[in-house]
Amino acid sequence: MPIDRRYATEALTRLVQINSINPLLVPDAPGEAEIAAFIAASLGSVGLETEMFEPEPGRCTVLGRLRGTGGGRTLMLNAHVDTVGVTGMAEPFSGAIRDGKLYGRGSYDMKGSLAACMAAAKAVRDSGTRLRGDLVVAAVADEEYGSLGTRDLLTRIRTDAAIVTEPTALETCLAHKGYLWIRVEVTGRAAHGSKFELGIDANMKMGQFLYGLAKLERELRSRPPHPLVGPPSLHAALLQGGAGLSTYAPSSTVQIERRTIPGETEAQAVAEIQAVVDCLAAADPDFHARVEAFFVRDPFEVAPEAAIVQAVDRASAKVRGRAASHIGDTPWMDAALLQAAGVETVVIGAAGAGAHSDVEWVDVGSVIQLAEILAETVREYCS
Ligand SMILES: [Zn+2]
Repeated sequence: MPIDRRYATEALTRLVQINSINPLLVPDAPGEAEIAAFIAASLGSVGLETEMFEPEPGRCTVLGRLRGTGGGRTLMLNAHVDTVGVTGMAEPFSGAIRDGKLYGRGSYDMKGSLAACMAAAKAVRDSGTRLRGDLVVAAVADEEYGSLGTRDLLTRIRTDAAIVTEPTALETCLAHKGYLWIRVEVTGRAAHGSKFELGIDANMKMGQFLYGLAKLERELRSRPPHPLVGPPSLHAALLQGGAGLSTYAPSSTVQIERRTIPGETEAQAVAEIQAVVDCLAAADPDFHARVEAFFVRDPFEVAPEAAIVQAVDRASAKVRGRAASHIGDTPWMDAALLQAAGVETVVIGAAGAGAHSDVEWVDVGSVIQLAEILAETVREYCS
């Protein structure tokens, strides 16, 4: 199905030129209002019905719909429109193209893929293909922070399947890791720095806990790895303890990030850390600690036999002339939310480099190829 290259490239350039930094990451950043207005106008101009939602004021998600005749499977093409900040970047909003690479914040993560979703919808519409199921393009807010956009969308619309278009260099991504944030607070007893017989030093006790945690960390990485995303891991991300130089530390807190692999549960990951605490408490009556998970993002996995995976693989082979590799990725994505809500989900996106770093670019050729793969997938899946 032919792609309108000019439309795709112009849309991508414009998307990169509009600042859509997430205001929860950078105070006073503009958020998604301006870019959402552009996307809605652009999708409207190529014949899609558009709606705009604001899960919170100024945080906008756009939905473009190509309505089917009824009775077919519905498919969502999902891309987030927010980006991280631009500190340290020489040309964050240029959208300049050199040697087939388009530069700027968000070009790779993931406005390139968003432009491909828009161009794919236009190609389907231009071709006059009569779909039975609806095609929905969802340009969502806030993936880089709390996934407000996709969470809100799931309260409004359910499609049979979704393609999350985070960058994968056009390979088919079937799994990603999850994570949970766990706080462990060790309690001591405050006392004057000269009164060793009264004080219990929570920081010293924390040292013992961290020694046990390091053993657990090594053990996690020696477990049989998931074939696509590797082994689980953890790190002691933030430490805070003590109340003053001449005071025995009354408490010491570590915030741990635990990266989970498909098949692992929150309860299991927390229990492993609780076991480190229990072991220390059994050996030392002065060791007291509390373990609490305070944020959870589940891992994602879809079966290679799933209908949407098969449809993407067939389209990809047709467009690229070779079978796509099945890959996994480590960062968390909105794919996990969609899959958990019962929407069969797969990930495929453009090629490039520099997500969240100083020089970011997307390969324009891969954006066009992605649009072709998405259009081809829609034609098969929704017909
Ligand atoms: Zn992203």
